Amino acid sequence: MPTCIAPTCIALIVAGGSGQRFGAERPKQYIDLAGKPVLRRTVEAFLRHPQVDGVRVVIDPAWRDVYDAAVAGLGLPDPVAGGASRQDSVRNGLEALAADGAPNLVLIHDAARPLIDEATIGAVVAALDEQPGAIAAVPVADTLKRGKDGAIGATVDRDGLWRAQTPQGFHFPAILEAHRAAAGLSLTDDAAVAERAGLAVALVPSKEDNFKVTTPDDLTRATRAILSSLWDIRTGSGFDVHRFTDGDFVTLCGLRVPHDHGLEGHSDADVGLHALTDAILGALAAGDIGSHFPPTDPRWRGADSAKFLRHAADLVAERGGVIAHADVTIICERPKVGPHRAAMAERIAEILGIEVGRVSVKATTTEQLGFTGRREGIAAQAVATVRLPG
Ligand code: MG
Repeated sequence: MPTCIAPTCIALIVAGGSGQRFGAERPKQYIDLAGKPVLRRTVEAFLRHPQVDGVRVVIDPAWRDVYDAAVAGLGLPDPVAGGASRQDSVRNGLEALAADGAPNLVLIHDAARPLIDEATIGAVVAALDEQPGAIAAVPVADTLKRGKDGAIGATVDRDGLWRAQTPQGFHFPAILEAHRAAAGLSLTDDAAVAERAGLAVALVPSKEDNFKVTTPDDLTRATRAILSSLWDIRTGSGFDVHRFTDGDFVTLCGLRVPHDHGLEGHSDADVGLHALTDAILGALAAGDIGSHFPPTDPRWRGADSAKFLRHAADLVAERGGVIAHADVTIICERPKVGPHRAAMAERIAEILGIEVGRVSVKATTTEQLGFTGRREGIAAQAVATVRLPG
């Protein structure tokens, strides 16, 4: 490798599996892990790495819609269609990279290893200065037994044994050629493809946390690992009021609700989303909705308040945090909120990109007391809990 110019390095994330042995309704790489899909966490780990120039994902096209939702806003190029086996999927990915101008280095990584850390990625890239291949791996620490009929048949010497993980990094032209030559064979990982081609592959010590999320127990373990790093837990509150005016509907929590009045406001006057936006901004100590979206700015005239809420959620994501829960209370005599509560919670969850089980929408009256009791307007209050890295 020339040392004067940094080689280009692309991460190829293999998310082609459609296996559902996990027992969920979707492949494991698309399951929520502490507020984000597993795949999104994996992709973000590589996108933010200073030595990685880009990320390309290989998927099963049957899950394209779910994939698009999982990586929304990350600016990734179109995914590559996977093949019948993992090996076919990787080869398709390498061919797509070759067609796009071929990087110097490629890091092939399992989508289901979302806890890959910056240091391990860097160590694999560094090892490629010396060898055409390098993989993340963990030395075997436990004593190994070969079982026979439910009992120990033999003790296996663990000396020199490693457990292979990913990323598995390679000089791009070498691994492309090796994969082409191995097409149709059934090799267990990309290092095996490289070994078959006679390429030297370095072992780079990795971390136990870089395990593959395969079972529900793994998901619990990964969730614990992530949440224990998000220990700065903040709660914010928000409150908003809008006055009734002429009209035949109100916008509440992102939903158009028929009514004999409208709500007055510069934007769509969605009191529910305004209160919740302020709650999230409050948890971040990041000002209020008026400071981010001044009512004097003509851009926000009639604006869909989902935009404001999405902005608050983006600020949480930029800080590496998650929204643990959101709870909105609508205060009015009319319209009746009850029939719309479930749809409102779903809409909020969609805007925030979190599970609907983390969103609550409630409603109350003020027993005909005060301005809401006199049906002069609608008030809303909200509480949101945000977890940030410590
Ligand atoms: Mg408002």
